[in-house]
Amino acid sequence: MKLAEKRSETVFQDFKPALSAGHAFAEASRCLFCEDAPCTIACPTSIDIPQFIRKIATGNLKGSARTIFDANILGSSCARVCPVEVLCVGACVYNHMDQPPIQIGKLQRHATDHAIAQGWQFHTAGPDSGFSVGLVGGGPASLSAAHQLRRQGHAVTIYEKRSVIGGLDVTGVAPYKVRADDVAKEIDWLLGIGGIEVRTGVQVGADVTWAELEQRHDALFVGIGLGADSLLDVPGAQLPGVQGAVAFIEAMKLGTVDLSNVRHALVIGGGNTAVDAVRELNGLGVKDVTLVYRGTEAGMPGYKHEWKVAKIDGVHAAWQALPVAFQGNGRVESVRCIRMDEHKKPIPGAEFDLPADLVLLGIGQAKLGELLGGLPGVTLDKGRVVVDAHGFTGRRGLWAGGDCTNGGKEVVNAVAEGKSAAIAIDEYLTTTAAAARQAKEAPHG
Ligand SMILES: Cc1cc2nc3c(=O)[nH]c(=O)nc-3n(C[C@H](O)[C@H](O)[C@H](O)COP(=O)(O)OP(=O)(O)OC[C@H]3O[C@@H](n4cnc5c(N)ncnc54)[C@H](O)[C@@H]3O)c2cc1C
Ligand code: SF4
Repeated sequence: MKLAEKRSETVFQDFKPALSAGHAFAEASRCLFCEDAPCTIACPTSIDIPQFIRKIATGNLKGSARTIFDANILGSSCARVCPVEVLCVGACVYNHMDQPPIQIGKLQRHATDHAIAQGWQFHTAGPDSGFSVGLVGGGPASLSAAHQLRRQGHAVTIYEKRSVIGGLDVTGVAPYKVRADDVAKEIDWLLGIGGIEVRTGVQVGADVTWAELEQRHDALFVGIGLGADSLLDVPGAQLPGVQGAVAFIEAMKLGTVDLSNVRHALVIGGGNTAVDAVRELNGLGVKDVTLVYRGTEAGMPGYKHEWKVAKIDGVHAAWQALPVAFQGNGRVESVRCIRMDEHKKPIPGAEFDLPADLVLLGIGQAKLGELLGGLPGVTLDKGRVVVDAHGFTGRRGLWAGGDCTNGGKEVVNAVAEGKSAAIAIDEYLTTTAAAARQAKEAPHG
């Protein structure tokens, strides 16, 4: 996968650098290899964590990486981007023993990075099944599904509207966790299974219709993620200098952004995208960066451990503040806010201005489910595609997973949902679809 060489994200260093071989061995040797390990239970992809750690401790890096990739084919990305503090590491029994928990993410990275660098492949494509599956969107959900389907021998084609695949794992995740080129390496390695056709620059719904896709393939998987940044409907919202946070992050990760004239940047929102954006602006050299959130610090939805680092880095915050207008002459210069009470209600007359040359809106993303809205059998819930536990939409031959169904979670959830849907699709193809094909081909008479 080819990325631009000049990308603003390259100024960022790894926030959690790799372990040395000795450190990895010592850390792995601390693991208690618990039965019914709570760390594994906390992992959405159910990686057998004590098993992969034990293999590191016995010098079997190849076996360790196999254990990880068997469960999660984006195990290298997830080692870096998973919020381990609230998943596996947060569940480690050492947390109840006044001892530091095992650094599971770093150990996972140690094994998977080594495997990718060595080019070890653990899976091969199954014998040709004669069935073909189309995957809409090329993010983690579809990549995970595509790989699993190839293992079952199905032909797969990914349709991706952007020029690169990988979804938000490439275009959205903070570069101090993982840079786009590292994810690209993992994707190239994943595609090494062979036979995954990737068609970039194809927007389903515009360049190709559902009817065409349904004709072309025996089953479809939809992993289209979320849509554009939500905007604020207040005066001045269209002023240059006011833009969506996810769009800004994508621009910084795939190309270059010029912040040389930005002295005061504001990021609106209190979730993870907003917290990432303040840390990114700070890392890109903007001197005065402020998070503006309508609630309190205690009530912000973003991860507290991430916000703590932002504060240490010198990011400011305006709590209980709601923007009511963006102001400026031809370009944003300040944001008028109103103070909110503890019930998130504006306090009359409590208005104030914050200087701003750049405003990023990190208040959510649109849901893209409408794309499937007209299809009989598909149900939407506030733009989210409704599916059963295996990703089935209710329309024959159509599955979905990842952010477009769960409303926006983590890479690891998308991987788990893509894989689970692929297993259900395989079951459908080898039973229902195979029987229908046989009946069609049987001689009449
Ligand atoms: C700023 C930001 C930071 C994040 N940081 C983290 C993090 O640190 N850790 C973590 O685990 N998660 C993080 N996430 C969440 C994580 O990236 C997502 O949960 C995950 O990528 C969802 O995967 P997906 O495959 O469902 O969708 P996406 O990754 O969104 O991929 C969907 C793909 O579908 C394509 N597409 C959409 N419509 C069409 C169409 N009509 N035709 C063809 N292609 C289409 C898109 O271009 C995109 O490539 C972050 C999200 C954001 C926004
Ligand atoms: S909970 Fe902690 S100690 Fe137990 S198996 Fe998992 S990582 Fe090892």
